[in-house]
Amino acid sequence: MDPPGTLPQAARRLNNDFDSVYDDELLLEVERLNIDSASFVQMEGQGDVAAQILETVRTRGKQHNPVTGSGGMLLGRVARVGAALAELKSPLAELQKGDRVATLVSLTLTPLKIDRIVSVDPKRHQIVCAGQAVLFASGMAAKMPPDLPESVALAAFDVAGAAPQVARLIENARQGGLGKPGARVLILGCGGKSGLLTSAAARRAGAGRIVGVERDEQAASSARRLGAVDEIVLGDANDAVGVAARAMKAGGGEFDLAVSCVNVPDAEMSAILATRDGGVIYYFSMSTSFTKAALGAEGVSRDVTMIVGNGYAPAHAESTLALLRAEPVLREIFIERYQGP
Ligand code: NAP
Repeated sequence: MDPPGTLPQAARRLNNDFDSVYDDELLLEVERLNIDSASFVQMEGQGDVAAQILETVRTRGKQHNPVTGSGGMLLGRVARVGAALAELKSPLAELQKGDRVATLVSLTLTPLKIDRIVSVDPKRHQIVCAGQAVLFASGMAAKMPPDLPESVALAAFDVAGAAPQVARLIENARQGGLGKPGARVLILGCGGKSGLLTSAAARRAGAGRIVGVERDEQAASSARRLGAVDEIVLGDANDAVGVAARAMKAGGGEFDLAVSCVNVPDAEMSAILATRDGGVIYYFSMSTSFTKAALGAEGVSRDVTMIVGNGYAPAHAESTLALLRAEPVLREIFIERYQGP
């Protein structure tokens, strides 16, 4: 709706009047939002999270955090499958009325209306609510798996793009993309949701030495229990000089690949200072600033390839579930941490 002609992600405001739903759309009854970590932490810092969500959705027609620019995804039940979706070869056409699904496209481009918020779960960054949402023909949704609690699957789907993309980067390294097999890998925020998944994926994909960074012992202990990283450096990723130096000491030199999975701003330089010329940095974190990364790397004359963490990779939802099924400790940690009320 505003500005006219803008595609939904970039729009300031979407039409969330669901009295008219089109044939190339899927209508959902919304039960739960999974707010992305950077956005939840930012809103928590401001005060009442529920009130901020209601206000954002009221004014924007979508949960698009005006400060972080990020969203999350949702869990809901299919209420109506548009008649034109099959003809358009949309993957949504495979769904049926009544299916319980998690959306795999961002809330920042999903028309949403919230009737009421039932509860806010600060531990899991999830919001139990009632409302409606629409997915377009180009959107994606995954049916909830029968073998995992819904709040756990939702948490994993939220960051589903991370692990398959890190695995792909390490596969590429084997074939010469990063210069050598057994890439040395740094994971900032290795004890968080995406940090644990990417650590496990990197290990399985044949990474060499993996070093993780975590701010405090609690998150570090999960990473230690998973056992995918060789060494954990306790430190603040905002302290670029200190953390990069300690991580390189633990890794035995500069890194071929750095992955940023933190949920706070100003961690760009830790990754840049620790990565070798010709290396790759994968910024999965939504708190990453393009400006700070690009100009920061220029400022220290570091010739690194910086990748924006695309939320999508082919078959990312299936691959992330497969990883959870293949890694019993990872699955246990996810269930302990994300199984909701
Ligand atoms: P998470 O579970 O909250 O994990 C973040 C981890 O980073 C936590 O363990 C946290 O530790 C740690 N951390 C925070 N500040 C740190 C610091 N200064 N130094 C060291 N460690 C620090 O988050 P997530 O769900 O994995 O998400 C990670 C990032 O990816 C977020 O920015 C999120 O918004 C983003 N994201 C991106 C996409 C995409 O498509 N690219 C999709 C979804 C989410 P504490 O627990 O101690 O704070």
